[in-house]
This record gives sequence, C-alpha cells and structure tokens, in this order.
Amino acid sequence: MKPHFLAIPFETLADELRKIDQPAYRAKQLAEWVYGKAVTDPAAMTNLPRELTEQFRFLTSRVVARADSTDGTIKLLLSLRDRERIECVFMPAAKRATACVSTQIGCAMGCLFCASGMKGFQRNLSAEEILEQVLHLQQTGEQRISNVVFMGMGEPLANYDATVTAIHALIDPDRFGLSARHITVSTIGLPREIRALAKEDLPITLAISLHAPNDALRQQLMPAAKASIGDILDAARSFYAARKREVTLEYVLMDGVNDTGVCADALAKLARQVRCNINLIRFNPVEGLSYRPSTPAAVQAFEARLRKRGANAKTRQPRGGDVAAACGQLRRSEAD
Ligand code: SAH
Repeated sequence: MKPHFLAIPFETLADELRKIDQPAYRAKQLAEWVYGKAVTDPAAMTNLPRELTEQFRFLTSRVVARADSTDGTIKLLLSLRDRERIECVFMPAAKRATACVSTQIGCAMGCLFCASGMKGFQRNLSAEEILEQVLHLQQTGEQRISNVVFMGMGEPLANYDATVTAIHALIDPDRFGLSARHITVSTIGLPREIRALAKEDLPITLAISLHAPNDALRQQLMPAAKASIGDILDAARSFYAARKREVTLEYVLMDGVNDTGVCADALAKLARQVRCNINLIRFNPVEGLSYRPSTPAAVQAFEARLRKRGANAKTRQPRGGDVAAACGQLRRSEAD
C-alpha cells in the first residue's frame, strides 16, 4: 500500500522523495499544498508531477454528511476506510478557529451523561485519522484553523501514542504549524498517562473532566473513571510542575445532580490543590438521557460562588447545539 503522507515526519520526507528519484525541494512544495492549503487532491497540486503525487495517500476518510449550525459551527460526519464513522467539529470565532477532533470510534468510558459512549467502543483512531479530521475541517472554509481541541469522541489518553504523534505533527512548523498553546487535550483523568504527558516536551493545555467534587458522585456519573480525584489532581500537579501550564478542570452542570452550593464549595476547595481554571459547561441535552441542564440562574450562582471562594471559573459558551455538535453530543453512528 502507498505510504500515508500524514504519517511521514517532515524531517524524513526529503529522504522518502530521494528514494523515488524526486528532488528534495519537492518536500516543501508537498507540505505547502497539504498543510498550508489543505489540498488533498493530487490533481489539484498543479506544480507537482503526477508520478510524485500518486506515490502517497492523503486521505483515507471521506465526508458523508455536514451539518451547519446557525452560530457558524460545522459538524462533519466522516466515513473511515473500514466504514466506521466519526464526527468532528469546526468552530469559527472572531480571532480564532477551532477544530474539535475525535480520537476513538465510540468510547469505552461510558460516562452516563455523554452520547459518545452510548454505543460502546469500536477502536482507536490512528494519528493519520486524527489529522485527516483537521484537513477535512479546514477544507470547509477560509478561516485558518488556529486551535485544536481533543474533545471529540473517545478518550485521547486511552489512545496515547496516536494522540501524541498527532500533536507533534500539529505543532511542527513545517507541517500544521500550530502553537502548542493552542492545543488542548481533554481527559477523563488517567493519572499514569497524565504523568507521561507531563514528560513530553509539549506545552499544551491539559483539561480534566472532573464533573463531580467527590469520589462517590464521580463514580456514579463516570463508572469507568477508576482513579480517585486525589490521584488525578496529584498527576495534574506534576503536569503543572513540568510544563508550567495551568490545568483546566471541566465541570458539566446538571440540574439537581452536581450544581448545588455544597458542590461549588467542595469544588472550590479541590481547585486550591492545583494551579487551574475551572471551565463550567451547562449540560447539553442528549436524546435518550434523562439529565437536564442546570437553570441559567443555577449556572450563574455556581460560577459566582466559585469565584467568591477564590477559584478562576468561567462558563463555556455552548456551540453548535442545534446540530448536536456541542460537548458530549457527538455519537457513534452506524455505516449504511
Ligand atoms: N474523553 C475525554 C474527551 C471528551 S471531551 C474527556 O472525558 O474529557 C468532551 C467534554 O464534554 C468532556 O468534558 C465531557 O465530559 C463533556 N461532556 C460529555 N457529555 C456532555 C454533555 N451532555 N453536555 C456537556 N458536556 C458533556
């Protein structure tokens, strides 16, 4: 099978080209098409000979559906080479454009409030399949993707190697050229993998899906989250110590479940254990689940109470809710 272009580090691309009797300067030209312009059709790479462009695979997935939200968010449904399907999301804003990518087909974590795990776990995505999502999303519009969040389907740190390989490609100035600071990996909180990530030279943002201020409630809501909150925060501290990047604690607010004043106080106390920002997310409804979003007044009160107790807290603006593209709404769908 032809090599996948997205799997080739830029440093080795010139060598690969030499093997097929192509001059080294073609490496920059190829990179300019694929990473610079998000062009993946060999026929459109007009300054390159077909015998060169035909040596590589650029995409193994294709877009099978697109949904446009009234707020500009775009959700793509991709079909992969084995006909499995994943979703990814493009979120334009005034000064940035964010790609939200999936790392697994389905999810094994089965958090009770999330659509992504409802049909179980199928397989990990490869680094190339993660990167292909960024290209497909870039191809939807003009605005250059500046941020990538690993917040789509799946648990990125349960697919550690592919996630880290994809991040390296994203921050390589000769490839996607993004700033590491504009990349966020969101995790259920796997302490061993968080500590490993801290050792990589990657100044990215680590986001931890906490969602409950005590282990008992967290176990109920996130049955696959085996680590204690204490262990997770300890790993988060090592991440901060190594990377000097404040950690984000994500907290989905569900009516009557985790949005009381007592919860806010307990969360504020936890937040003192690590340099962090708390990101509140009003629960996005998922068909088939009985959880309800906290009322806007409850969200405001929760945020105010956290701030009063010294925590940095802000509420994340929902995007793409009308096309089920918001946090927790991406799901595994069946092929036709
Ligand atoms: N598995 C990773 C990546 C998923 S990121 C993780 O757990 O962090 C998606 C974020 O949306 C997570 O914080 C997740 O807990 C949250 N989420 C899941 N279901 C949601 C819902 N229905 N409404 C709002 N946020 C949700």
